[in-house]
Amino acid sequence: MTQGRALIVGASHAGVQLTASLRQEGWSGEVIMIGDEPALPYQRPPLSKAYLADKSSLAELAIRKAEFYGKHDIRVVRGAVARLDRAAQRVKLSDGTTMDYDALALCTGGRARSLPVPGVDLAGVFYLRTFTDVESIRASAAPGRCAVIVGGGYIGLETAASLRALGLEVTVLEAADRVLERVTAPAVSAFYERVHRDAGVVIRTGALVEAMVGDDRVREVVLSGGERVSADLVIVGVGLVPNTELAVESGLDVEDGIVIDDLARTSDPRIVAAGDCAVHRMPRYDRLVRLESVPSAGEQAKTAAATLCGKERPIAALPWFWSDQYDLKLQIAGLNTGYDELVLSGDPSRDRDFTCYYLRQGRLLAADCVNRPRDFVKAKQVISRGLDIDRGQLCASDAL
Ligand code: FAD
Repeated sequence: MTQGRALIVGASHAGVQLTASLRQEGWSGEVIMIGDEPALPYQRPPLSKAYLADKSSLAELAIRKAEFYGKHDIRVVRGAVARLDRAAQRVKLSDGTTMDYDALALCTGGRARSLPVPGVDLAGVFYLRTFTDVESIRASAAPGRCAVIVGGGYIGLETAASLRALGLEVTVLEAADRVLERVTAPAVSAFYERVHRDAGVVIRTGALVEAMVGDDRVREVVLSGGERVSADLVIVGVGLVPNTELAVESGLDVEDGIVIDDLARTSDPRIVAAGDCAVHRMPRYDRLVRLESVPSAGEQAKTAAATLCGKERPIAALPWFWSDQYDLKLQIAGLNTGYDELVLSGDPSRDRDFTCYYLRQGRLLAADCVNRPRDFVKAKQVISRGLDIDRGQLCASDAL
């Protein structure tokens, strides 16, 4: 039985996985993936890491080699989908062409959140979401120049480490009281502040940016209170806005992302969604969660492909994430929201490897593992399976 045309909007981690999984699940009809970026789909995480630090090429970042798409009869179309007509099962591209579909997947990801302050449009102010953003940053990033990073989240801190490696003077401005405030425990934030300071990065917390000023390009960042920080370039890393416009305009349920169920179906069961654009009520957490992570995009895409092929493979994997800064590999298992107890294995105020365990009512909820891959693997198993833990044992370096 032929299955007609599957159309995937968005050609990145979720979209590419979805095309591959459709073929694995036996989709026999056409598979077309439409993406609006001017390159073969590439891995995004290295953008703030190896690619920014000039240690890898764009070709090395390809999610799949060009031959993959030919071999599996996957058509990759460059273009932007501007409209979705659900009743007609048709999309319209910004160049006016239309395409009908039998099955549709929205994998539109997100874009960098803009900073609403005067001067943000000056030359020399950048965001970091695409490889073209990185190429613009690198063109300005000569050794000895002053880079100011607005936002002390993972992307901001990775960018700081990469720009230090390129020989720039780096200042991180974070509005909250500590870096990574939204996502980690105070001890983990303090650890990252220490290692960045040791590497020569100036970390300013409680620093609220009010404006950027300059002439032909940015020269200073102005903080509330009037203080000015010199800048040859500014990188803004203050979060992501999910690309939900197609879903909103076509009347799909959207919260902080396109709402999907356990089978990655949107409120229109003929349309699936996956990745950074999607928000999922995770039974494990009993709330809507929008994850911004490659493993999660892949997991949702696999489920979405199975669904389109008439199979039931609910999204089940534990969320996980990683971040690379200097010689430090942070691996995070689970989400720590709602923790009521912390257990540290190792001393983050001194060591360069430790694990921070997050517990709720005595059960392991999440773990931040710095240079502790074994702790990460074990924590993932314990949390996924809901196993009991011996809290007394957690402090040991080979804890679980
Ligand atoms: P995206 O990667 O955002 O891709 C969506 C694609 O769809 C884009 O190419 C977009 O241009 C395109 N698109 C959108 N709308 C349309 C349209 N209407 N028509 C056509 N095309 C459209 N995650 C980790 O797990 N670990 C990390 O260490 C990590 N580091 C990161 C570092 C950086 C600098 C960034 C930016 C992200 C990082 N992430 C990391 C997050 C990770 O990259 C994302 O979770 C992942 O890219 C999500 O994939 P996606 O396919 O859902 O969306």
